[in-house]
Amino acid sequence: MASTIDFTFRNLLLQTHGSETLSYCYQCATCTGSCPVSKETGGRYNPRRIIERSLLGMKESLINDPTLWLCTMCDTCDESCPQGVVLTEIFTILKNMAVKAGKAPQRYKDQARSVWENGVSVPFMDSILRRRRDLELEEELDENVVVPVEELQVLMESTGFKEIVTSFDDNGEDGD
Ligand code: SF4
Ligand code: SF4
Repeated sequence: MASTIDFTFRNLLLQTHGSETLSYCYQCATCTGSCPVSKETGGRYNPRRIIERSLLGMKESLINDPTLWLCTMCDTCDESCPQGVVLTEIFTILKNMAVKAGKAPQRYKDQARSVWENGVSVPFMDSILRRRRDLELEEELDENVVVPVEELQVLMESTGFKEIVTSFDDNGEDGD
């Protein structure tokens, strides 16, 4: 995908808390060599290349890249990087930028909406209750350990989460 170099984006990334280590990268590819997702995808997912494009300020290429969302945040790359680059922090910042630009994959938007509406990413449904019955577990969870969704929404609203979820409805773009 063609992409222009966005120096403002690169500088912003370098100055953002958690991604200061970006400039330490010397492109040795140890991260990619240790990444289980890279192995599983035959190299289609490549953390070194994401770091390279971050260093080059290739904002549009990065926030439109669906492979950005393949990382499982297992932290193996962080632990193996000889330069101490905190790749997962950088990936989180990139994903947050993609969300703000309306580029998050639909499945993540749906999950976020479910967290807002139900307080959990996977709401209770008949199939879950059936499995609980099969395993002889209580069907009703103890009300003392279940926080009412209204309370969770107050917390989520204070973090700006509601605003993000609402923006999904305003912005029809689908990052998938
Ligand atoms: S392991 Fe570290 S230094 Fe090497 S390419 Fe990956 S991020 Fe850069
Ligand atoms: S955190 Fe992501 S990029 Fe790093 S090794 Fe795990 S899957 Fe790969």
